[in-house]
Amino acid sequence: MEKEAEIEKLKKECIEFCKKSPLYKEGTFPVFGRGSLNAEIMLVGEAPGYNESITGKPFCGAAGKILDELLEYAALKREDIFITNIVKLRPPNNRNPTMDEINQFSHFLDKQMEIINPKIICCLGNFSTGYVMKKFNLKDKIQGISKIHGQVFNVSTLLGILKIVPLYHPAVVTYDANMRDVLKEDFKKLIKL
Ligand code: URA
Repeated sequence: MEKEAEIEKLKKECIEFCKKSPLYKEGTFPVFGRGSLNAEIMLVGEAPGYNESITGKPFCGAAGKILDELLEYAALKREDIFITNIVKLRPPNNRNPTMDEINQFSHFLDKQMEIINPKIICCLGNFSTGYVMKKFNLKDKIQGISKIHGQVFNVSTLLGILKIVPLYHPAVVTYDANMRDVLKEDFKKLIKL
């Protein structure tokens, strides 16, 4: 099956799954993810916030503005990469996703990674870093994001070498403006990769 058809099928499954989820709220949208199906870089966030849940688009609120700034800095365009989250529905009051929720939704992220087959996966924040590193057998290398942000972990997959790059979640800049420069430095590394 073509990538487009595979992704469309998965998106439909995801929407049906979301309708049955305790996180589903009438009048809001699942945020499946967006971008190029031929992307070499995939960004994986945590879960949609309010703005994302009313538009269905990933990273379109305050954290999204910061992300856009960082992408521009790294000369990356949203249409050339793929942006998604582990959890596809907004947790109430933007609370952290639970392990149960991560496990319930992870099938969709797994399939997205399989279909798009990026060369680099950037994990935004602790939750996506933990999930993605565990999935690719890097469990013993997992540390808090303040310790491993900007490092590059190479893993061999059946489809070749995959680079996993943990990064701070862009929302951190809304709490601490000094973190903008740390994120910029890390995003700069993506240009080299
Ligand atoms: N934070 C995330 O992790 N994902 C979004 O889509 C928006 C905010």
